[in-house]
Amino acid sequence: RKRMVSGVQPTGSIHLGNYLGAIKNWIDLQNAYETLFFIVDLHAITLPYETQQLAKSTRDTAAIYLACGVDTTKASVFVQSHVRAHVELMWLLSSATPIGWLNKMIQFKEKSRKAGDENVGVALLTYPVLMASDILLYQSDFVPVGEDQKQHLELTREIAQRVNNLYGGRKWKKLGGRGGTIFKVPEPLIPPSGARIMSLTDGLSKMSKSAPSDQSRINLLDPKDAIANKIKRCKTDSFPGLEFDNPERPECNNLLSIYQLISGKTKEEVAQECQDMNWGVFKNLITDALVDHLHPIQVRYEEITSDSRYLDGVLAEGAGKASEIAEATLNNVYQAMGFLRR
Ligand code: ATP
Ligand code: MG
Repeated sequence: RKRMVSGVQPTGSIHLGNYLGAIKNWIDLQNAYETLFFIVDLHAITLPYETQQLAKSTRDTAAIYLACGVDTTKASVFVQSHVRAHVELMWLLSSATPIGWLNKMIQFKEKSRKAGDENVGVALLTYPVLMASDILLYQSDFVPVGEDQKQHLELTREIAQRVNNLYGGRKWKKLGGRGGTIFKVPEPLIPPSGARIMSLTDGLSKMSKSAPSDQSRINLLDPKDAIANKIKRCKTDSFPGLEFDNPERPECNNLLSIYQLISGKTKEEVAQECQDMNWGVFKNLITDALVDHLHPIQVRYEEITSDSRYLDGVLAEGAGKASEIAEATLNNVYQAMGFLRR
């Protein structure tokens, strides 16, 4: 079976963008692929963060995966920092990653500009190398990527190819290795729709955990009245009716897309249903749809978090399975790079 990996940072509360752009798609993918889903806690420290919150957010994120339908009989769920090989491989990969490649990353430019010089650690720049490590360790065939991660996946592919060229093949064989390529070069899996959910307060920037205003996003665990309140106050426009794909109406397009994805209707059905609606009517409709969709997830979340031993067990088992695959890759890389092994 083809293998696929994906993860979310425990940087804040999981929102509709993470859900529709990533987690919801995993539920189908776990049937088709061998899947590993991790909580990328090591990525969460690339910007200033709250030490008192990290462990809790990590557990909560894992619980959300399960509540959304990740099935541990099919998928491995684990915490990135529990598998040491992620950081180790990252160091080896950094030596083969030109700084120029990292300087070009849009997310680094955006996040560093927002954070200000004093808050930008080296790790924010080298973050994509850790992401490459997350993927390449598992010899993944596919990585589902939202729009915002396309550039990072492209970088992962370039790093993989570079390491394969530098250290793989005959040279590796001479060192007693298998020869051939060290890393599989992963392909992106772009979700058919919902690739990019936008902020509720600005239809031109993406919904994000790290955006300062909570009004800009619907969190998966938001109670009913918070959802209603956020939708009531979200940015709209004063055009008549509602429509998809009008570049002058990014908020309208975003809200219709969200409604479409959570209601399970087709774009055409939604376009027709909503074409003559005013905002008031539509806001009630989308609020109800969101509440209905998220309620069962929230109930399961409560069940899962009420038994901490269960979650600990899931994470321990996941880390165990992941470590086996990761160690094998890491050993190959050390060998191919010519290290003296213990
Ligand atoms: P941060 O602001 O801390 O970077 P984030 O909201 O971007 O948080 P990540 O943990 O970086 O969340 O991303 C987790 C997954 O969610 C990734 O697969 C990413 O592509 C996806 N994702 C994040 N934001 C969106 C969005 N607005 N629309 C669709 N997918 C998204
Ligand atoms: Mg992000």
